[in-house]
Amino acid sequence: MNDAIFKDWGLPVRHLFLAAGPCSAESETQVLETARALAKHDVSFMRAGIWKPRTRPGSFEGVGLKGLSWMDRARSETGLKIGTEVADPSHVEACLEYGLDVLWIGARTSTNPFSMQAIADALKGSDIPVFVKNPMSADIGLWMGAIERLINAGLTKVGAIHRGFSSTLEMRYRNAPNWKLPIELKRHMPEIPMICDPSHICGKSELISLIAQEAMDLLFDGLMVEVHLDPPRALSDAEQQLTPPQFFEMIGNLDLPHEQSDSPSFISQISELREGIDELDSHLLELLSQRMNIVREMGRIKVEQNVSTLQPNRWQKILEDRVGKGEALELSRDFVLQLMQSVHEEAIRQQEASRTEG
Ligand code: PEP
Ligand code: MN
Repeated sequence: MNDAIFKDWGLPVRHLFLAAGPCSAESETQVLETARALAKHDVSFMRAGIWKPRTRPGSFEGVGLKGLSWMDRARSETGLKIGTEVADPSHVEACLEYGLDVLWIGARTSTNPFSMQAIADALKGSDIPVFVKNPMSADIGLWMGAIERLINAGLTKVGAIHRGFSSTLEMRYRNAPNWKLPIELKRHMPEIPMICDPSHICGKSELISLIAQEAMDLLFDGLMVEVHLDPPRALSDAEQQLTPPQFFEMIGNLDLPHEQSDSPSFISQISELREGIDELDSHLLELLSQRMNIVREMGRIKVEQNVSTLQPNRWQKILEDRVGKGEALELSRDFVLQLMQSVHEEAIRQQEASRTEG
């Protein structure tokens, strides 16, 4: 957990770093009442969107500037820190004028390097904490690029928010969690604190606790959750918002695991199991290497006979067979599919390489 970093950014952390509040600011009363409900517990800042990026025009596009004065009033009354989403330089200017405590950049904006650069330029000279949500598509380079633009503009308080990725393959969640991406971002940029936004991943309030717990198990540094006084009547994202009591109950039920334990029996059990894993991984790699030797041999024979690298029927049969075998071995269909696709892609690469060598 990066609690010390957040405190250094002027954002309080008690139990866990928590950003909470409505998807959108809707009225002054709603903002004030939400702030009062949140201030009773340990919230690091209250979120509320005032400029809403909507997929289709005509839906609620946010209350605009007046929302900032409502949030400012909520802050004076409750002492809560406040933050909102900015999508262009005029938003940045307005937020800096109101002295917001934190900003975030939404998924649609972090997708666009021109917008990111314009925002970074507008933020130059300020030291406000800014979180960057992952771009809509599962592209780690775009996400890192967006963060780098802020750092290059001289910002020193930059964090990341994982809000899932738009995917036609995802059935359960609104946005596919695709955990390997935030894990990769963390590996490349370990100094950037990373929080999870389970609301936009899930799209449904009943799934939020599951994703929030998974984020804790994966050592995320905190959560941003959409909280609304009356979710069914929310003007945006009605299905995914929690009421304040639901939110605090969910947070209270989270387990917060540590990265390490110094219990001697844990250490000895885990190291024995890790030895097993290391040995199996070596076997896996040796087997894959043997498989690639055969693949290259096949590539040579195919070239001799002017036969195509890709063999669609054979590939289809391999997939069906391996998925079936995998299922019998309690390996999920998705996992086996991804694994075999990866192996097949490398097999094609190797065969094509031997074609050009020949
Ligand atoms: C939001 O936080 O309300 C929002 C619009 O999120 P995202 O950019 O993740 O879609
Ligand atoms: Mn929302």
